[in-house]
Amino acid sequence: MKCPRCQASVTPVQTTCPACGFSATLLHNYLGNQWVRLERITDAAHCLRLEDARRAEVILDDFERSFPQAFFAVYLGALPGNLNVAELGFWLLNQGAFNTHSVSRRNDFGMVLVVDPSAKTACITTGYAIESCFRPKIMSRLMQAVGGHLKKGAFGMAIEEACLRAGAVLRKHARCMPWQLEATTMADAVPDMGLQPLRGGHRPATRPLADSPASRT
Ligand SMILES: [Zn+2]
Repeated sequence: MKCPRCQASVTPVQTTCPACGFSATLLHNYLGNQWVRLERITDAAHCLRLEDARRAEVILDDFERSFPQAFFAVYLGALPGNLNVAELGFWLLNQGAFNTHSVSRRNDFGMVLVVDPSAKTACITTGYAIESCFRPKIMSRLMQAVGGHLKKGAFGMAIEEACLRAGAVLRKHARCMPWQLEATTMADAVPDMGLQPLRGGHRPATRPLADSPASRT
């Protein structure tokens, strides 16, 4: 897993980034540690026209149909100065209960595109189970393509491009996965950001810089 603040590699058992000292506790202090219920598209900054939002929903539906375990979500909003897009993406994949078509979709198979139109920054955060599909080079190419649309204010196009490209990456990766024939076993509220707290119901699915690693095995 990458540290959302400095991008250093952090193992699931490390509670604090060895490079910059970032810890999920810092985000919890600010954003809370309750689950929040979210639509797949949260447009807190009102960037999307109705037709953009509808079109994006169709793209996200297609994504979920193609990848029955995975989902793609989007957050567009102006973030406070002490929070960056990567940190919010990280927090959303840990604390967000996304309103996907199937409740069985777990956040470790999720992707979140966070865009701050005021700061002109964007980031895609991937869940633990799929992050290995998105190597830095692939992610940087993806973000370049997305950034091209964002610079023009084409937020709908940015979502579409991000989702379609992410789908292509996952599809390519799925084809490379060998059959495991000889398997060894049988195997808190954020009032100004459009995030409402949700108590219980969901379990953490990513393996972030956890507060207590023992509870997240
Ligand atoms: Zn760090």
